[in-house]
Amino acid sequence: MDDVVVVGGGIIGVATAYFLSKEGRKVRVIERDPAYKKASFPLSLGGFRRQFFQKENINLGKFALEFISNISNTLKTEKNPNPTASMVPNGYLLLFGPDHAEEQYEALKNHKACDAGTKNIPSSKLKEIFSWINPEGLETATYTDSKIEGWIDPHMFHNALKNKAIELGAKFEKGDVKKISDIKAKTIVSAAGCWTKELLDDIPVVPQKHTVFRVKCPKHYPDMPLTGDLPSGVYWRPEGKEYLAGSPNSKFDCPDLEPEWEDFESLVWPALANRVPEFEQLKLTGGWAGYYDCNVLDNNAIVGKHPKYENLFLATGFTGRGLMQSPGIGRGLTELITTGKYQTIDLSCFGIDRIFAKKKRTEPYVL
Ligand SMILES: Cc1cc2nc3c(=O)[nH]c(=O)nc-3n(C[C@H](O)[C@H](O)[C@H](O)COP(=O)(O)OP(=O)(O)OC[C@H]3O[C@@H](n4cnc5c(N)ncnc54)[C@H](O)[C@@H]3O)c2cc1C
Repeated sequence: MDDVVVVGGGIIGVATAYFLSKEGRKVRVIERDPAYKKASFPLSLGGFRRQFFQKENINLGKFALEFISNISNTLKTEKNPNPTASMVPNGYLLLFGPDHAEEQYEALKNHKACDAGTKNIPSSKLKEIFSWINPEGLETATYTDSKIEGWIDPHMFHNALKNKAIELGAKFEKGDVKKISDIKAKTIVSAAGCWTKELLDDIPVVPQKHTVFRVKCPKHYPDMPLTGDLPSGVYWRPEGKEYLAGSPNSKFDCPDLEPEWEDFESLVWPALANRVPEFEQLKLTGGWAGYYDCNVLDNNAIVGKHPKYENLFLATGFTGRGLMQSPGIGRGLTELITTGKYQTIDLSCFGIDRIFAKKKRTEPYVL
C-alpha cells in the first residue's frame, strides 16, 4: 500500500506533494496529462493578490508572496539551482462603481485587520497616480504599490515545485484515475481541479471556460498594475510589450477550449477603451481559453477531509485563484494530514461540511 497518493499533478497537486514530501511522507502523484494541455494552471494569468473580502483569502494571498519571494532558496535543487517564478510585482488595482463600492469599504476593514497594506483612493484622485485612467463612472479604487501583489509565470512556478518535490522523494507517474476506490494508500489527496466532480460527484466543482486576449497598443505602460474594472468585469495587465485582457464572460459545458473571439469586439475592447482611452488603438494579436475550477455553490475553495471517506482529502473549487492559493493550500493540507489540524492559516471555513449543508460562503470579485 502507498503512503500518499495525490490525484492530479497540477499546481495544487505539486504544492501539496512538495509540502508533504518535506514532512517525510512518501508521495506518489498520478497525472493523466503530463503535458498539461488543458490543465488550468498553465492557462492562467499568473496573478497573485491579497485584495479579497474574506480574511482567509487575504492571508492566503499574503503567504503566496512570502513563499514565492523565497523560492530561490527553498526550491533550489541540484538540477534546478536557480528556481524562479519570474515574479512581476506591479501590484493590483481594483476599480469600483457605486454598485460595488460599499462592499469594498467593508472588505477594507478585513484588509486592515490582516495588515494587507491595501490603499484606498476616491475616483477623483485616481488620475494623479494612474495617468492613463478615465475615472468616469467610478466611485473608488483600492490598490497596492509596495511590490506585494503582481503576477508570476505559472509554468516556471509549477516546474520549481515539482523538481523540489521529486528531489525530496516524490514520484510522478502518468495515469488516469477512474475511481477513488481504485487507489490503495494510507492517505489520498484529490487535486483534480475542474474535473473533481468526475471522481467525487458530491463536490460541485465543474469546468467554466474563460477567455484571455492578447493585444498590443502603440502606447505601452510596463509599470501598469493588474487592473480589474469591476463595473465591466474586464481585467488586464502588461505582458512583455503587449497586454493580456480577460473577458468577463464565462461558459459552462464547453468541451472545447476555443476562445470566445466575438467577446473581444462586443465586450472587451469597448470596456478597455472606455477605461484607458489609449486602448482605442488596440490590435488583437492572439488569445486562449482555459477552465476555472468553478465551485458553483459559492465561488470559494473546498479544502479538507472528505467526511464520507476514512483517508481522503481534497482541495479544489478555487474559481480563478488556485495558482496564488497553492502554496497556502499545500501547506495547510499537509498540516491537516500530518497533525490533524491547521497550524498556520485556519482553513476550516473551506471545509466540505458547508457544501453538504449548502451554506454559502461567497467570495465576491471573481476576476
Ligand atoms: C484564464 C484563466 C486565468 C486564471 N488566472 C488566475 C490568476 O491570475 N491567479 C490565480 O491564482 N489563478 C488563476 N486561474 C485559476 C487557476 O489556474 C486554477 O484555480 C488552478 O490552476 C487550479 O489548480 P489545480 O491544480 O486544482 O487544477 P489544474 O491546474 O487544472 O490541475 C489539475 C490536474 O489534475 C489532472 N487530473 C484531473 N483528473 C484526473 C484524474 N482522474 N486522474 C489523473 N489526473 C487527473 C488534470 O489533468 C490536471 O493536470 C486562472 C485560470 C484560468 C483558466
